Amino acid sequence: MRGTLIIGAGAAGLFASRYLPNALLLEHNPKPAQKIKISGGGRCNVTNKEISPSHYHCGDSDFVAKVLQNYDNTKLLHFLAKAGCHPVVRKKGQYFCPRSSSELINILLSHRPKIELGCEVMGAKRIEKGFMVYTSKGEFLAKSLLIASGGLSYKKIGASGIGYEIAKSFGHTITPLRPALVGLTVQKEQFWFKQLAGISMRARVEVAGKVFEDDILFTHKGISGPAILNASLYWERGAIILSFLPRLPKLSPHKIISTQLPLPKRFVKAFLKSIGIEDKKVGELSLEEKKRLGLLCRYPFAPAGTFGYERAEVTKGGVRLQEIAEDMQSAVMPGLFFAGEVLDVTGELGGYNFQWAFSSAYAAAKGIKQFLVE
Ligand SMILES: Cc1cc2nc3c(=O)[nH]c(=O)nc-3n(C[C@H](O)[C@H](O)[C@H](O)COP(=O)(O)OP(=O)(O)OC[C@H]3O[C@@H](n4cnc5c(N)ncnc54)[C@H](O)[C@@H]3O)c2cc1C
Repeated sequence: MRGTLIIGAGAAGLFASRYLPNALLLEHNPKPAQKIKISGGGRCNVTNKEISPSHYHCGDSDFVAKVLQNYDNTKLLHFLAKAGCHPVVRKKGQYFCPRSSSELINILLSHRPKIELGCEVMGAKRIEKGFMVYTSKGEFLAKSLLIASGGLSYKKIGASGIGYEIAKSFGHTITPLRPALVGLTVQKEQFWFKQLAGISMRARVEVAGKVFEDDILFTHKGISGPAILNASLYWERGAIILSFLPRLPKLSPHKIISTQLPLPKRFVKAFLKSIGIEDKKVGELSLEEKKRLGLLCRYPFAPAGTFGYERAEVTKGGVRLQEIAEDMQSAVMPGLFFAGEVLDVTGELGGYNFQWAFSSAYAAAKGIKQFLVE
């Protein structure tokens, strides 16, 4: 019987297969690594200068810290350099492939992993000496099973909930799943955002004790941009706070408000209208209106929801970490392993999700090797 079956030939599955030469990957797409291909605007933001659990939404920070430490960004960059790829830092410590994400894909395929393409996994069950996996191409058997099937976002390039379903069928708990690193839709009170579609500006976003200072982008659906995508990871419900300006500048009483603020004029006009202030000379503002203008520095609003899985970079939530050992083996089903996004670990924008995929895949591969010799 084969040693290992890996469900999913994405980042985590392919990386784990490097260390498991006899493993067979089951992938329903006609090509492997489709998400890597489109990631980071086609250049794949592979990791970050600063990797720590504080950049992850997860069910157990200590667990995540250990997995990340055992295969950190230095080890990943060293591995890539040895393979001839030297990622470059573009912004905020984010490492991208120098030319295109194909560079990373070629490296992940360089050991010529065995992949059954066009093979849709539909379920799995325990058999006496291991696992039987049901697929569109028949049944496959192995002593160990690695679930690396990712999350629910971007169905059009292969995402499915199969990992969660198989985990549940073996007795695992799945923490609530939500689209994350995604734009936010707005309620009636903020419909004025939509009129500003296309405007991008710097802002500070505060959510659930986290602060992100980066660009925001108004869209015809609501609000997006890097600061909002990061905020979406921590937003559950209730208000988030936008600061369009750190503080109000000194304003001349003789000049019109919108001519004095260091913000896009179209934005200022829509903002003033939304808070019921006419765009007039500052000297004509009542005391109460002046106070209301302070909302520019602290504007709380409750999003209506998110743009959904089709626009989300990742899925937050997943297989509960308390049911997984540090070798990524299931605590409820020996021989069953997990890696990547299917677990309840979701990183912020900036290469954190690929780093997690590779670190957890490395731990899982080590765990599987050990399991197979025991
Ligand atoms: C547009 C976009 C851009 C992104 N950019 C970045 C970035 O720059 N940096 C970063 O760190 N993260 C980025 N991410 C997130 C990152 O791509 C994922 O977190 C990462 O790919 C997760 O790796 P994984 O191996 O767990 O899952 P995946 O890479 O998604 O791999 C899972 C594989 O399983 C296969 N599969 C699923 N269901 C089945 C089934 N039923 N049968 C057979 N096969 C199945 C899928 O087709 C897929 O190939 C981006 C995501 C998106 C959508």
